[in-house]
Amino acid sequence: MAKVMQFKTESKRLLELMINSIYSNKEIFLRELISNASDAIDKYHYLSLTEDKLPKKNDYEILISMDKENKTLTIKDNGIGMTYDELVNSLGTIAKSGSLEFMEKLKEANQNTNEIDIIGQFGVGFYSAFMVAKKIEVRTRSLYADQGYLFTSTGEETFEIDEINKEDSGTEITLYLRDNNEEYEYDRFLDEWTIKSLVKQYSDYVRYPIKLLKEKEETEEEQKETEEKKDQSETKDQEPIVEYETLNSMTPIWKRNKNELEDKDYNEFYKQKFYDGSDPLMHVLVNVEGKVNYTALLYIPSQPPYNLYSEKYEKGLQLYCKGVFIMDKCKELLPDYLRFVKGLVDSSDLNLNISRELLQKSKILKDIADNVEKKIVSKLEGLMKNDFEKYLSFYKNFGLNLKFGVYDDFGAKKDLLKDLILYNTVYEEQMISFKQYVEKMKEDQKYIYYVSAKNKEAVMAMPQMDVIKKHGYDVLILTDDVDEFLIRILDKYDDKEFKSINQGDLDLLDDESKEKIKELNEEKKPLLDALKEALKDEVQDVILSKRLTDSAVCLVSSDGVSFEMEKVLSSMPNSQGVKAERVLEINPNHALFNALEKVYLNDPTSIADYANLLYSQALIMEGFSVKDPVEFSNKMCELMIKAAK
Ligand code: ADP
Repeated sequence: MAKVMQFKTESKRLLELMINSIYSNKEIFLRELISNASDAIDKYHYLSLTEDKLPKKNDYEILISMDKENKTLTIKDNGIGMTYDELVNSLGTIAKSGSLEFMEKLKEANQNTNEIDIIGQFGVGFYSAFMVAKKIEVRTRSLYADQGYLFTSTGEETFEIDEINKEDSGTEITLYLRDNNEEYEYDRFLDEWTIKSLVKQYSDYVRYPIKLLKEKEETEEEQKETEEKKDQSETKDQEPIVEYETLNSMTPIWKRNKNELEDKDYNEFYKQKFYDGSDPLMHVLVNVEGKVNYTALLYIPSQPPYNLYSEKYEKGLQLYCKGVFIMDKCKELLPDYLRFVKGLVDSSDLNLNISRELLQKSKILKDIADNVEKKIVSKLEGLMKNDFEKYLSFYKNFGLNLKFGVYDDFGAKKDLLKDLILYNTVYEEQMISFKQYVEKMKEDQKYIYYVSAKNKEAVMAMPQMDVIKKHGYDVLILTDDVDEFLIRILDKYDDKEFKSINQGDLDLLDDESKEKIKELNEEKKPLLDALKEALKDEVQDVILSKRLTDSAVCLVSSDGVSFEMEKVLSSMPNSQGVKAERVLEINPNHALFNALEKVYLNDPTSIADYANLLYSQALIMEGFSVKDPVEFSNKMCELMIKAAK
């Protein structure tokens, strides 16, 4: 006698949602049913290894068949099956955490369209089949039971359970497909091609063969034969001619023996899987067994994806669990600065139906992510050491990401990444690392010098280079907006402090010269005070320079915010108008300084004009624009006329 039972409340809500789902990705039901089948076989297999009495099987398989006439799709496995209680408990109730989590989310999202996204993010298991089926029959027999059962439901209020005869342990699920409507063509699941491509897409690497029952097309001859036979006898119905086709490749490339494969195999896989026309720059295969077990196959593309720096770009690795595809872009697996990395992680320690939220918090995932990060970084270090040319080509494409990696999170990753950073310098032909810079430092050199500039030529023309050139010290040339921020975060490299050539005190003079400047400062105080007074709204200070030897003046900033930082910050939205503190430096050994003294002695009132002109020039040299270009030009003309008199 059939027994009718009520679904539990939560299940009802989930079923309701599935039935009324407008979710376009209805096809995921197949993945869910196949992975349940694969789990059931896993369990059987495991038990057969541990329990002697159990009949061993070596024909594990998942069979898919369709009946076009009755519009049914059947998925059958020879796994562990379900007992009566298991059937009621597993299919009558939502027990698993993923689904519960899913329900919670759903309540939050409520009427919202977010529902659609939510389904996509969760494995919703068996019930997802109601997205495509108006009725489902489950025929199952547990390995431990003599009796088989039939579970039938339309997914509404109730389900029914009957006793049936079933020879083998295992489960057979028959879906009565919904009728096509304007929004969706359910008949597509009766199409071989659809099923084949869905299996390829979602379940290719399931370890057991997924076989499709093909109705063999009869040749003309065979047809004739059949006709004849029919005519000759009234024998029982003709057995249909059937054949199975295995749809999945079963062993994923990342599980195959490395030694059997060549680079080109991995490259081919990359191109297919990640839709890139060119070979990757390199791949990394990581196999970890221990506390957490997983395999990762990672790729660094040779070119940045066209949208890498757009907001739409989604980072992440594909995530598999025991060969079953879980999601396409698991962003928890990659830090932001490695957003360009492509690849996948396959772990036997994850639960297929784990929800997004739980996944984010998962310790296992975190461990894997940490390890993946370290692997990629060490691979890049290796590349830099062994094939610098190749590393350079990588760095030109992705170096900016690494720089952000150093800077992000208040420098949390700076020690991991600092040796991957390269800069051009004034004297080196090729880019060099901090390490190389330090190795080549002059004996008396205390600091690592840097400056923000377009290129070498621009740096060499800077007045601030005067004293540095005299010492022959090399200078790192910073070109990206993030660079000065990165240097600030690093603070030091190998105990050597960084020093900007146009900020603060360069500290390069010997004691005698320092003393001399000090004396001069006293001596020339009235002039300096007059200049300061004239520029009091523009600069913090006017001082005698310790860095200029050949040039007349320059503008520097005091130790806090630099000019470059000011430019970057002010170009950002919501910039707070952060300004670098300006200091005008004058070279006391330059003829101009003598000229200023003369002007001051003869006509103190005109010193203000001179001060403003000097300041404007210094601004221009620093790449700023002058406050009032017309005024600047007029003053300049006046001065020239005066000089000609
Ligand atoms: P999940 O697979 O995440 O547990 P499902 O709703 O898909 O969620 O399935 C619920 C339970 O039903 C499974 O945990 C399993 O115990 C049982 N089940 C589902 N399909 C099968 C199957 N083909 N063979 C044996 N048991 C199954």
